[in-house]
Amino acid sequence: MPLVPFFVINLALGLTTMRAATFYWVSQLGMLAGTVVYVNAGTQLARIESLQGILSPALIGSFVLLGVFPLIARRIVDAVNRRKVYARWKAARPRRFDRNLIVIGAGAAGLVTSYIAAAVKARVTLVEAHRMGGDCLNFGCVPSKALIRSARLAHQMRHAGEYGLAPHDAPVDFGAVMARIERVIAAIEPHDSVARYTALGVDVVAGHARLVSPWAVEVTRSDGTLQTLSARSIVLATGARPVMPPLPGLADVGALTSDTLWGLRTLPRRLVVLGGGPIGCELAQAFARLGSQVTQVEMLPRLLSREDAEVSDFARRALERDGVEVLAGHQALRCGRDEGEGTKFIVVEAAGGERRIEFDALICAVGRVARLEGYGLEELGIPTGRTIATNEYLETIYPNIYAAGDAAGPYQFTHVAAHQAWYAAVNALFGNLRRFKADYAVIPQATFIAPEVARVGLNEREAADKGIAVEVTRYGIDDLDRAIADGAAQGFVKVLTVPGKDRILGATIVGEHAADLIAEFVLAMKQGIGLNRILGTIHIYPTLAEANKYAAGEWKRNHAPAKLLEWVARYHAWRRG
Ligand SMILES: Cc1cc2nc3c(=O)[nH]c(=O)nc-3n(C[C@H](O)[C@H](O)[C@H](O)COP(=O)(O)OP(=O)(O)OC[C@H]3O[C@@H](n4cnc5c(N)ncnc54)[C@H](O)[C@@H]3O)c2cc1C
Repeated sequence: MPLVPFFVINLALGLTTMRAATFYWVSQLGMLAGTVVYVNAGTQLARIESLQGILSPALIGSFVLLGVFPLIARRIVDAVNRRKVYARWKAARPRRFDRNLIVIGAGAAGLVTSYIAAAVKARVTLVEAHRMGGDCLNFGCVPSKALIRSARLAHQMRHAGEYGLAPHDAPVDFGAVMARIERVIAAIEPHDSVARYTALGVDVVAGHARLVSPWAVEVTRSDGTLQTLSARSIVLATGARPVMPPLPGLADVGALTSDTLWGLRTLPRRLVVLGGGPIGCELAQAFARLGSQVTQVEMLPRLLSREDAEVSDFARRALERDGVEVLAGHQALRCGRDEGEGTKFIVVEAAGGERRIEFDALICAVGRVARLEGYGLEELGIPTGRTIATNEYLETIYPNIYAAGDAAGPYQFTHVAAHQAWYAAVNALFGNLRRFKADYAVIPQATFIAPEVARVGLNEREAADKGIAVEVTRYGIDDLDRAIADGAAQGFVKVLTVPGKDRILGATIVGEHAADLIAEFVLAMKQGIGLNRILGTIHIYPTLAEANKYAAGEWKRNHAPAKLLEWVARYHAWRRG
């Protein structure tokens, strides 16, 4: 109200189709409660006759009422909205609930939600249609990082000469690489297993869940049997799936995605990777290092387009050094197979010219969209866009149904899914007492190419887009002792601060183990630690982590008190006699 005067609202409503009579009684009724509270406070004020009167219970009570009135009004509006949204489900509301919480999906978001619920002694059921651990364990973070590890070793063996050892250039046993990935998944699987969660107190059900009312979920088990579960609250942690672009012929060439590529057992000789985002870059480089001839196609002019241009350039040069042909600014037009030999090809276009690229396998990594179909969102009328629509409490239009992880967005990271899970679990179980807004203030992220790219908070591109003034401090990792000793002297630490202050607004690190090194800036931002205090912290010599301290040192040098130092120099001169 301080921003928008009442008369503007009244005039604006005159432009709507609301009838004048309706507008009149609605506004009179709407203002009535506020008017009573204000007039009451004013009346009490007018009655003050002495200083003691200020402390009279009536006056204090009136002002407390004035303070809490907006909260009460909001509660009333919430209650009215709730009644509206639940109106058509009145008959379906159970008298009592079998459990406190049902969680749909056992990926990072669902596992952490049910873990927290069980830890606070709620009765919770976790339903998973496919594999415990979701995308991260089975098709995402874990297999991709295991693949990258093998690729890195193959690369190091090929370049062993740089370290004084005999180089090894034998072809990679790709089947063995994929077998190792399976072993890695198997080793991590117990962390997310039915046995572990059951022991934690979670009731785990295998089957496909579908919302049938705001409090009931129907589970179809693999043998076809149906079971209906009820709960006071539900958390949707149904994740995301790879996007298949509407490219003519794509289905015919059997395009792979992150869901299916882990079934490969022979290394594709010629590989096309569609997409220049983090997943596309990680896979393109890994396959190139393992020996595939990789062509990466990206429609936008640069790879990792959310990062600063210099980071994209760094990534491109790194991938090209490993043999990836990067076709940024190229649009994929169509795929097909030659008649006869059946050679698969893709046609891409740039600057008006078309180019045909033949391949043995194509990985489609152009993005991932939230899973939104087939589990009752439509029937319940839960609005969706790219993700399930939620408010800042991760609540859908039904105050007892929440969403977390890739299904809720806007980020698609395992650690963010786990972070949101806390809010979803706590708000779902205790929201009637207190609700918490999901906090996205300090979100770190990394792309695990070599050298790694990691970021927390703002980069220069985002700061410019948002019109936020920043001061940029840079330290080149090519100068770092440990990086030189390790043969990893490339990359930089870039810190964005409030101009003239050491408060960190964001940090980007490009370099070996950047995803680990960024943790210091994540902690600093979260806990309000500035560059001065990072500089004042002992870092072990020689480590890569020293790069963070040296970046802080650069900032300090740029803010050296020149005038004071002139006087100090004079003092020393005087002391010398
Ligand atoms: C190749 C690749 C690499 C990645 N690398 C990283 C990385 O390095 N770091 C990182 O942070 N993130 C990474 N990610 C992203 C990360 O995997 C996801 O952000 C994370 O898995 C999201 O977790 P989630 O719980 O929201 O969803 P998911 O892990 O997708 O879990 C959702 C689960 O819900 C189940 N489900 C869906 N509908 C139903 C239903 N109706 N009934 C029952 N069950 C249902 C699904 O079967 C699935 O198991 C990567 C992703 C990919 C594809």
